[in-house]
Amino acid sequence: MRNNEGRTQIPPELLDQFMKQQEEKFMASQPPQAPMPQASPTGYQIPTDFVELPSQGLFYPQSHPWHNKEKVEVRFMTTREEDILSSQAYAQAGVMFDKLIESVTVDRVSSTSLLPGDRNAILINARKNSYGEEYEFVTNCQNCLKELECSVNLGELGFVEVDVNKITENNTVSVELPVSKKQVEFKIMTAAEINDATKAVEKQAKLGIETNETFELHRRMIVSIDGDRQLSTIVSFSQNMLLKDSRFLKSQYSKFSPDVDFTYEQECESCGHKNKGGVPVGANFFWSSE
Ligand SMILES: [Zn+2]
Repeated sequence: MRNNEGRTQIPPELLDQFMKQQEEKFMASQPPQAPMPQASPTGYQIPTDFVELPSQGLFYPQSHPWHNKEKVEVRFMTTREEDILSSQAYAQAGVMFDKLIESVTVDRVSSTSLLPGDRNAILINARKNSYGEEYEFVTNCQNCLKELECSVNLGELGFVEVDVNKITENNTVSVELPVSKKQVEFKIMTAAEINDATKAVEKQAKLGIETNETFELHRRMIVSIDGDRQLSTIVSFSQNMLLKDSRFLKSQYSKFSPDVDFTYEQECESCGHKNKGGVPVGANFFWSSE
C-alpha cells in the first residue's frame, strides 16, 4: 500500500466534475456504435462443440433437422442449464433431460423426436463439458451383491457397432423371422414412440387390463409384414407373435439401435467377479464428483 499522506488532496466534488468532463470528452470522440449482433440476449456468445451422433443421422425422416447429420452443434452448459437440472417440477414430470437437450442443441430440435442413442450422446457430452470426463457411480456386484464403486471415463466411450449396409432406403431394417418365416420390416423408435408405449402399458395397468410391453413396442416399431403395411395386420401379428420370433425381433432391434457403447467393466474387490453392465444415466448423472 502506498502512503497517500502529504499528497495534495483534491476535494471529491472537483474530482467528480473532472471525471465527468473526461468521460464526456471521450464519448464525443467515439463514432456512434453499431448495435451488437444478437447472439444471445446478453450479447455473449456461448461456446459450442460438435457431438458425433451414434445414428450418423440415419433413421431420421427427410423432414427432420438431423436427417443424415453425422454431427450436431451443441452449446456448453451455463447456469440456465443448471436451473433445468435443479428444477423439481421438471424432475417430477420426468422431462429434465428433454429440457436440457432442447436447451443445449443449437438446432432446437424437439428432444422426443430423437433416437434414444443420440440423446445419450448429447447428455454425455454435456456432462463431460460441465463436470468433467470422470463419472463415478455406485452399483451392486452382480455376484455377491456388495457395493461396487465404478468409474468411467466419458471421453473414451465408443459407439455400438451397427451394420449400416443393412439399412434400407426407407431408414428401416428388414429381417426374416426364424419360425414363421415372415419378412418383417422395422424402424428404430424415437423417444416419443417409446414413451407412448410405456404410457399405454401404464394406462392399461391402471384399468386392470393385462399389459404386454413387448406387444406395445412391436406394434410401434414394425413397419410392414411381408410387404403389408396395414396397421390392422401389424397389430394382429404383434399380438400373436410366436415367442421365438418375438425374441429374435427384439435382439435384431437392439443390434440395429445406434447408441453410445455405455458398458462398464469392474472387478469386485470382495469376490473377484468381473461385473459388466450398462452405466446408469439417472438424475444424478449431472452431479459433480469434484
Ligand atoms: Zn462381488
